[in-house]
Amino acid sequence: MAQMHDEDTLAFYDREAAAYAARKRGEPTRLHRFLEQLRPRARILELGCGGGQDAELMDAAGFDVTPTDGSAGLAAQAQARLGRPVRVMRFEELDEVGAYDGVWANACLLHVPENGLADVLTRIHRALKPGGRFNAGFKAGDGGGRDSLGRYYNFPTEESLRKAYGAAGDWAALELTAGQGGGFDGVMREWWFVDAVK
Ligand code: SAM
Repeated sequence: MAQMHDEDTLAFYDREAAAYAARKRGEPTRLHRFLEQLRPRARILELGCGGGQDAELMDAAGFDVTPTDGSAGLAAQAQARLGRPVRVMRFEELDEVGAYDGVWANACLLHVPENGLADVLTRIHRALKPGGRFNAGFKAGDGGGRDSLGRYYNFPTEESLRKAYGAAGDWAALELTAGQGGGFDGVMREWWFVDAVK
């Protein structure tokens, strides 16, 4: 049976929740671009919301945001930042159908074990309304492994990502963009940013 989450990675985020939530972040250019493509007050599911910085921005911009995270520690940090409940939810617990105009999954699905990614993407596809938009970022590589902090990453190739998205359902549009980015471990890496439309 496919493994859906990595216990050590979630334990890392629980342990480091306060430090992770307090870190300085770059300009959220991709988030602004994502929001520009949605209607005003659109319903957005945020997966792996971390300390809640992106949800805070989306709240302020008037969107109807549901922030969630699989780490109880980070959900509590996000809750304190946002002043409203943040659901503790692992990706594989998502079971809604046709509920969202957008799914924002910044730098979080990269922690899904390789053999569980297609199932999680299927759940996201199902949770979107027709025409709904879905954005996610993945650290690129050639297969799963751990960083120096012990966190698991699926480190996909372009081909493996396209295969996992393809297995999840039909997409009206699927765009992969290569880029560079850092992380909590201080290492700059290549990334794949994926913009999908149901
Ligand atoms: N999206 C936030 C941001 O951009 O700051 C946080 C990114 S952080 C690199 C990854 C997040 O994914 C953490 O908040 C972690 O708790 C969450 N996460 C990891 N595995 C998860 C899982 N299986 N289900 C739900 N959340 C998970």
